[in-house]
Amino acid sequence: MESASGRVQVWARVRPPIEQDHGPCHAVDCIDKTVRVRNDVDTVERMLAGQAETSPSEPREFAFDGVFGESSAQRDVFMQIGLPVLREALRGINGTILAYGQTGSGKTHSLLHQSAKGEEAGLLPRLVASLFLMISQDVANVYDVEAAAVQVYNEQVDDLLNPDHQNGQGNNLNVRDGGIVTGLNWIRCMKPDEMLEAFTRARANVVYAETKMNKASSRSHAIFQLRISKRERVFEAAKTGQKVECTIARLNVVDLAGSERVKKSGSEGMRFQEATNINRSLLAFGNVVSALAARKSHVPLRDSKLTRILDGSIGGNCRTCLLVCVNSAFEHVGETLNTLEFASRAMRV
Ligand code: ADP
Ligand code: MG
Repeated sequence: MESASGRVQVWARVRPPIEQDHGPCHAVDCIDKTVRVRNDVDTVERMLAGQAETSPSEPREFAFDGVFGESSAQRDVFMQIGLPVLREALRGINGTILAYGQTGSGKTHSLLHQSAKGEEAGLLPRLVASLFLMISQDVANVYDVEAAAVQVYNEQVDDLLNPDHQNGQGNNLNVRDGGIVTGLNWIRCMKPDEMLEAFTRARANVVYAETKMNKASSRSHAIFQLRISKRERVFEAAKTGQKVECTIARLNVVDLAGSERVKKSGSEGMRFQEATNINRSLLAFGNVVSALAARKSHVPLRDSKLTRILDGSIGGNCRTCLLVCVNSAFEHVGETLNTLEFASRAMRV
């Protein structure tokens, strides 16, 4: 088992076809811990022309720490990614889970989806429910649990739980070293429902913009934060005569903006400005991930708002997990390859 330090651990998830998709699907297969993409251009074009018998040649393969195929369950994603990070957080180790991929590839679904039918719930609601279950079963310790949420939009940081956010300007908060967002509201939560309600409210404040690709395309990075403070119950310490142990851990769940190239979504004017800034944060994030993969001594965390916020909970003695999401449709093979190449750079040691 890899230690908590060092490179980012990377998982890939393939989104199954949905009603709104066009053209042939299933360009992406998962075998063991490998994602295989049928990228032969002629094959793709012939398949788009409906010649289904065409046999694909020379697929591209990418190996990761784990893969989730089209039929994977939300529960699997939580068990493999969410639960280990949560367990470490309860030991005082900071963690970050990020979803990366083009718009429509399943990032928000994987991380945030909430449903009346619990089985479809995404990673964050599961994390919240498990956290409260685990701390209720731990009789030796007392916990304080708090929630916060920020958005990075056009390199501006806004509090997603601040009611004043509705005035349209946002609160443009500063980020200090160590990932401390000045003036951010932290909400103390006594029950899972309180934390879920806070995150649902935060999500409703996320700015969505229309692009040609997807009506609900998120142009912003959304960061959901948990702060878990733990201290030994005093009677336990008195019994053993030891010092009272305290730990505090921060956990980030990050729904990144779409990683697609600007020209593809036909962004112009303000939208182009947005896309440029998104690329700046994503580019900085990519550089951080590459520096961690190469075990460089300098990790460039100060180059964007996104990476500044992650300072202290990415790399080093933290557990960092990247879930890269890809679309299985042939029409998106180009973006799928971009995404998987990015993810492979994160794996490289
Ligand atoms: P993104 O956040 O990457 O833009 P979404 O999470 O919004 O993408 O997913 C795009 C669409 O695909 C949504 O309608 C979502 O419900 C659906 N979807 C995504 N992942 C899955 C999945 N694993 N199973 C079924 N539907 C999915
Ligand atoms: Mg989304």
